[in-house]
Amino acid sequence: MSKKIEVDFGLCESNAVCMGIIPEVFQVDEQDYLHVLQEDVTPENEAQVNEAVRQCPRQAISIVDK
Ligand code: SF4
Repeated sequence: MSKKIEVDFGLCESNAVCMGIIPEVFQVDEQDYLHVLQEDVTPENEAQVNEAVRQCPRQAISIVDK
């Protein structure tokens, strides 16, 4: 089953830790709003997405089944 990224925007504090790990997926804009540019978890991005999940200080990122 394929997986996708979910962010709890109520928890996210837009500190861009995730963007520092994988900017192709996570982008914090000038208004401090986080965008998920690519919600699919792929073999190419999986390791870095998992790292972002681990390092998010708010535990706002989840990986869920699509
Ligand atoms: S690391 Fe977590 S708290 Fe920080 S911008 Fe990403 S999702 Fe939000």
